Amino acid sequence: MRVEILSVTPDAEKLIERAGRVCYKSEKRIKQGSAGKFIKSLIRAGHLSVLEHATVTVLLRGVSRSMTHQLVRHRLCSFSQQSQRYVSGENFSFVIPPRIAGNRKAKKKFLAIMKIAAKSYGEILSMGIPKEDARFVLPNACVTEIVFSCNFRQLRHIFILRGAPRAQWEIRKVFIELLKKMKKIAPNCFFDLAVNRDEETIEMTDGEGQKGRAE
Ligand SMILES: Cc1cc2nc3c(=O)[nH]c(=O)nc-3n(C[C@H](O)[C@H](O)[C@H](O)COP(=O)(O)OP(=O)(O)OC[C@H]3O[C@@H](n4cnc5c(N)ncnc54)[C@H](O)[C@@H]3O)c2cc1C
Repeated sequence: MRVEILSVTPDAEKLIERAGRVCYKSEKRIKQGSAGKFIKSLIRAGHLSVLEHATVTVLLRGVSRSMTHQLVRHRLCSFSQQSQRYVSGENFSFVIPPRIAGNRKAKKKFLAIMKIAAKSYGEILSMGIPKEDARFVLPNACVTEIVFSCNFRQLRHIFILRGAPRAQWEIRKVFIELLKKMKKIAPNCFFDLAVNRDEETIEMTDGEGQKGRAE
């Protein structure tokens, strides 16, 4: 699984401060280092629309179709995904869920099914059936690539939903990786979101390490 940030609004936090201060006519208070405190106060007040001025574009590689099917439910994002209509699925790679990989019998069964799917896909294509129909035999485990773009408000929303303990492990893993990257780029916009100690979930905090309320 690879999480790569392709693009992000330059000086995102300065832009958010600039936009947000228009609301309060407090532009004169902009100075070196003033953005952090201001952005945290916006977030604490729930004035999250100001975070919509900054956006990020992310490339995900080595993730399953099962994961991307969940991701594309987030309607405020824009997506571009590797097509199974135009790109051949022959010799497809696949993601093995850790709980299957760690169970000898389940893994054997899983690998056998992948082999059957790959063989059947090739045979169906060789019968002159187009890729868009042959793909019906491809599994959810198939590896895919997807690019998504969204604003920081929406990204915070996804971190909270998909980083929660009840979210599925693969999408949680993706957004934990992304949160780590975003905290380096725009620490104040994500100050109250933290990867928990065992790196399994994302928690809401008060920004000082204490757990806080969910959104
Ligand atoms: C643990 C978990 C289990 C899930 N299980 C299932 C399942 O079994 N079946 C299933 O179908 N889905 C399931 N989902 C997906 C879920 O129902 C949502 O479709 C998905 O999480 C997108 O979230 P969203 O609708 O909040 O956000 P987005 O689409 O990301 O939208 C962001 C926010 O914008 C606002 N918004 C967007 N569109 C509208 C609208 N039309 N009207 C009003 N407000 C809007 C809402 O405030 C929304 O929260 C699950 C998600 C999670 C996290």
